[in-house]
Amino acid sequence: MIRDPELLDQLIDTISRFVRERLIPNEARLAEEDAVPPELLEEMKEMGLFGLSIPEEFGGLGLTMEEEALVAMEIGKTSPAFRSVFGTNNGIGAQGILIDGTPEQKARYVPRLATGELLSSFCLTEPDSGSDAASLRTTAVRDGDHYVLNGTKRFITNGPEADIFTVMARTDPSNKGAGGITAFIVEGDTPGLKRGPADKKMGQKGAHTCDIIFEDCRVPAENIIGGREGQGFKTAMKVLDRGRLHISAVCVGVAERLVEESLNYAIERKQFGMPLADHQLVQAMLADSKTEAYAGRCMVLDAARRKDAGENVSTLASCCKLFCAEMVGRVADRAVQVHGGAGYIAEYAVERFYRDVRLFRIYEGTTQIQQLVIARNMVREVS
Ligand SMILES: Cc1cc2nc3c(=O)[nH]c(=O)nc-3n(C[C@H](O)[C@H](O)[C@H](O)COP(=O)(O)OP(=O)(O)OC[C@H]3O[C@@H](n4cnc5c(N)ncnc54)[C@H](O)[C@@H]3O)c2cc1C
Repeated sequence: MIRDPELLDQLIDTISRFVRERLIPNEARLAEEDAVPPELLEEMKEMGLFGLSIPEEFGGLGLTMEEEALVAMEIGKTSPAFRSVFGTNNGIGAQGILIDGTPEQKARYVPRLATGELLSSFCLTEPDSGSDAASLRTTAVRDGDHYVLNGTKRFITNGPEADIFTVMARTDPSNKGAGGITAFIVEGDTPGLKRGPADKKMGQKGAHTCDIIFEDCRVPAENIIGGREGQGFKTAMKVLDRGRLHISAVCVGVAERLVEESLNYAIERKQFGMPLADHQLVQAMLADSKTEAYAGRCMVLDAARRKDAGENVSTLASCCKLFCAEMVGRVADRAVQVHGGAGYIAEYAVERFYRDVRLFRIYEGTTQIQQLVIARNMVREVS
């Protein structure tokens, strides 16, 4: 749903200019320094990017899902690591509190998440629990008006920098499944919370992950999201539903950028006396990528509109994540092919994007998990 088309056009224009004039020229620096340049971080805060999908009452822009998807597509046109920093605050880092938090929890944390004063992270994955998230082993044992957390969370985005963490831990050891899991808000300076060294990743340099280790970490009972034990897995799944549409929109944006890079290169470079773009086999690659990016755009916007209209889009969000993450992988592969040897050289953006996009098929539910979710929902609907 688009509430005010004129206002949204202005916002998208501003973001598009920021991406073109400030982020794209700094992509190589981001990768080399493995850090978002501090002045760009400040500009992102000033533009309100940390609060895009946080409601206006908490100081955010309160975008609807369709508006957020359109904005994410614009932001997708540059290195995904730029988005990762503020995308986590809007998405998996804040949504748990926003969707299921108590009024006090929302008032305490969300306004500072919206401005970027606080950075947040979402801790579900563990060394022995990834796709099978409901089997997680981190424990939270009640002790007076606190819970004592023990366990390790793995590959946590923003982990090295985050000020607050949404942590899924098992409060009921007799329940080994989803029902025994509770979500906590844990502040980054709580004694007993330790951060492992930053992971050395294949791509998306500038976005950091690390282990988050809890050793007798005492968390106030009032920090249970929603105030009730046993609801944490449901909260995590609701958070991921919205996240999947957001990530799908980013995949579409990256694919569109790669189509543009491929087309420009194919028009400029000549072989056999004519531009690559005049060779029919190169044209086939360009046409396939254009078509797939367009298909992704259409499906994400359709699912986003349905979500705004109140429909349950769990299946469609997984369809979008499945298609768009795989699609951008194919588009990145063709982009390297269109560039020939240059596509394999770090000087060209497509080499970096080829590595960056690999992650989309893995996090926030792998491709195989999306397939399982879609098929299970299909069978459930019939029976
Ligand atoms: C850079 C990065 C950032 C991340 N950020 C976060 C974060 O902020 N917070 C967080 O909690 N997690 C985060 N993750 C973790 C991510 O969500 C998991 O890596 C992902 O869910 C897969 O889990 P896994 O790595 O344990 O793989 P596994 O679950 O071990 O899967 C390995 C392979 O087996 C397949 N597989 C597993 N089960 C099945 C099945 N039942 N049927 C068919 N195939 C199956 C998978 O699809 C995959 O191909 C991040 C990961 C990375 C790499």
